[in-house]
Amino acid sequence: MSKEREIDIAVVGSGPAGHVAAIQMAQLGFSTVLIGPAHSGTDGRTTALLGSSASYLDGLGLWGGVRTRGQALRVMRLIDDTGRLFRAPTTEFDSSEIGLEAFGYNIDNNRLVEALHEGLKAADGALLQEDQQFASAVTLNEDHARIEMADGSVWRARLAIAADGRRSLVKEAAGVEMRKWSYPQAALVVNLSHPSTGHGNASTEFHTPTGPFTLVPYRDGFTSSLVCVVTPETAEELKRMDKEALALELERRAHSIYGSFELVSEPQIFPLAGMVAKGFHGMRSALIAESAHVFPPIGAQGLNLSLRDIGALAEAIKDHGGKGELRDPGSEAVLSHYGSARLSDIWSRTAGVHMLNMSLLSSLPFGQGARTAGLALANMVPSLRKFMMKAGLDAPTRIGTLGDALRKQDL
Ligand SMILES: Cc1cc2nc3c(=O)[nH]c(=O)nc-3n(C[C@H](O)[C@H](O)[C@H](O)COP(=O)(O)OP(=O)(O)OC[C@H]3O[C@@H](n4cnc5c(N)ncnc54)[C@H](O)[C@@H]3O)c2cc1C
Repeated sequence: MSKEREIDIAVVGSGPAGHVAAIQMAQLGFSTVLIGPAHSGTDGRTTALLGSSASYLDGLGLWGGVRTRGQALRVMRLIDDTGRLFRAPTTEFDSSEIGLEAFGYNIDNNRLVEALHEGLKAADGALLQEDQQFASAVTLNEDHARIEMADGSVWRARLAIAADGRRSLVKEAAGVEMRKWSYPQAALVVNLSHPSTGHGNASTEFHTPTGPFTLVPYRDGFTSSLVCVVTPETAEELKRMDKEALALELERRAHSIYGSFELVSEPQIFPLAGMVAKGFHGMRSALIAESAHVFPPIGAQGLNLSLRDIGALAEAIKDHGGKGELRDPGSEAVLSHYGSARLSDIWSRTAGVHMLNMSLLSSLPFGQGARTAGLALANMVPSLRKFMMKAGLDAPTRIGTLGDALRKQDL
């Protein structure tokens, strides 16, 4: 006989999005369990938290721990390294131009989860608990979600939040299909030290014909995290190189702006793909983060968008979840409001990242030309520079029409 435990909300998936969702739901007063294995500490990625992400995490009491483990991003430098005839001028955006101390903070994913886990431990233990194992099966019913765990125990929840990534069990149980597409690219991710030259809190993005080559401040003033977007074959070739040869090759690709490199992590490869769920909820279930949207690591949008999913779900529960005894975080009213609230933001961000990537890849002069002209104008027109900086941080509805157009056709 399996043990069945009742809970208001089960968050399935213990990555950064799952941690924040669990803490948010407990702060709304719901009994919550965060389901998923303890973090392995071997994620080579870093995450730039931008715009409203800082104030949102601050509201949950999490920002202090995240900020002290991250590196401020004060300058964003874009360099056209396509070698094409018409090249964009080098463009630098400085956060002080829009009155900000920094555009955001870049943080090692392992340190991010560590900070969020500290926040989880500090929460009221009577409301928030962890079950550090995989869920093995999920069934969704009209009045509850049933989550079977690897050890055979069972959680019955009024709401299951899918934070279990792109191959989400909760999403599968909800019967939500994905719109998927792929790109002829892969990201080689590796962290580097460059003892001779500091990064000065700048991120530097070289636009190359196969995609961006981006260096972002990592753990201190003399380490950077690299996302190098190339063809899948080149990514494999680079990964196969011995450490010294790879460091030299990456220094060459970075035009030695930080002098010589030393690898401080194992290189990892992430194939580039796009996916957006055809709906963001099912019976007694809400899809957030990579269970709802995946896109290329360009423009640092993924987790920032996921935090806005969680904020929107909390708002839908506050506004449509009823009061007192009748309070229900997984009612149809809550979930349908959540689903429609997320459409525009998710599709506009997906479209923005897609267009940016295609403008680099495309051999058609239109895409390149628009990007080159856009950056040239940004260098000359201060109000356009400010608009571009703010749009890169949040302002989701500004490109909502484009997102809407793309949602209706195959990308
Ligand atoms: C190279 C790269 C760079 C990126 N840079 C940025 C950036 O600068 N800014 C940004 O905002 N985003 C960035 N992203 C995106 C960001 O990393 C992801 O959005 C984010 O890490 C995903 O977090 P998550 O919690 O949604 O998913 P994950 O980290 O994938 O977590 C999913 C969790 O679910 C657990 N799980 C899976 N199945 C089950 C199950 N059955 N039961 C229980 N648990 C389960 C897994 O163990 C895992 O812990 C980048 C992505 C890449 C690939």
